Amino acid sequence: MPSLSEETGGARERLLPGDVIGIVGGGQLGRMMALSAKYMGLRVGVLDPTEDCPTAQVGDFQIVADYDDKEAIRELAERSDVLTYEFENVDADALDAVRDIVAIPQGTDLLRVTQNRIAEKTFINEHGIETAPWRAVNSREELDAALEEIGFPAVLKTCEGGYDGHGQIVLREPADLADVWPDDAFPPAILEGFVNFAFEASILVSGNGKDYRTFPIVHNIHRNNILHMTLAPAKVSENVARTAHELAIELARGFELAGTLAIELFVTPEGKVIVNELAPRPHNSGHYTIEACDFDQFDMHILGICGWSLPQPKLLSPAVMVNVLGQHVEPTRAAAPEHPEWHVHDYGKAVVKHNRKMGHITVLCDDPACAAELLEATHCWDE
Ligand code: AMP
Repeated sequence: MPSLSEETGGARERLLPGDVIGIVGGGQLGRMMALSAKYMGLRVGVLDPTEDCPTAQVGDFQIVADYDDKEAIRELAERSDVLTYEFENVDADALDAVRDIVAIPQGTDLLRVTQNRIAEKTFINEHGIETAPWRAVNSREELDAALEEIGFPAVLKTCEGGYDGHGQIVLREPADLADVWPDDAFPPAILEGFVNFAFEASILVSGNGKDYRTFPIVHNIHRNNILHMTLAPAKVSENVARTAHELAIELARGFELAGTLAIELFVTPEGKVIVNELAPRPHNSGHYTIEACDFDQFDMHILGICGWSLPQPKLLSPAVMVNVLGQHVEPTRAAAPEHPEWHVHDYGKAVVKHNRKMGHITVLCDDPACAAELLEATHCWDE
């Protein structure tokens, strides 16, 4: 991993107050990164096609352009001291093209690996870490052959561009093959064995290219393939917690990670920890860290890409985080004034849409399961 000084032609080892962080993507993750950067005295520029996007509202300047607009990426690079991104589908070639003018401490290998499920699973398995069994498939014939080996139930996923369950077909029985793409529209895909998990979990790891720190493993509850709640910490054995920590450190080392990486996990009833997928950035399941930890996932991301020494973040209190989607905006806004225990986050998005992430609420508590029940009892999340 080249140091910032090498990347910037020997300018300086570390970023300092007054320097500029450029963020590709201006959604809520960029906004919360920017808030961490701002309190540390850094300046923030953002590239996003939506004027007054969530990140621009708290940053210093915005370049209004598409994420893959190479000229715009170059302009952001020229106006920044370090570049980062808040989502994984950034054009890695466009970032490589500006590495001579701006430091990109995360590099682009991490992006390239996490943009493609085959590259991602290969990387994970090569580091001795378990995933669901999988095969690359590019046609119905290859799918049939892979199903012979993996068996039903299984999940067929596009290699690129899938998120929140998009680009996925669950194959429970042969009849479900009717939903599979015809050969002339069969995208590069993988077939994965279905994991009978006890629950879904995640762990965050942050690095500065040399040292790596994890947050505790947390329990995630999804609805319609979208994260609904995170219970922190997950109620797991010491063995599961240690396995999650060790695999996170192993992956971080493998990437020479700078910034924050999220690792989505399945925990089986027997206590096996299986990696589902990686996100090369702070993650929705880490929003609880803002109130519940002394250093949150965004602080760690900024410290890591600035090349500072990293603290070991501490969980100060158990917590529950619940997402506020478009359909939850009205009920939560009506209820919030009567809930002083809620830490309400609103991302400042102008357009409210069903299933769109508009904000989140975190509650610090003694018992996350109990706090989750109290949140559900408000009926704000019935829809
Ligand atoms: P992904 O886009 O890979 O995160 O998948 C979205 C959701 O589908 C996950 O959060 C799981 O609930 C489910 N899922 C994905 N892959 C598998 C699998 N191999 N076995 C069981 N459930 C899965």
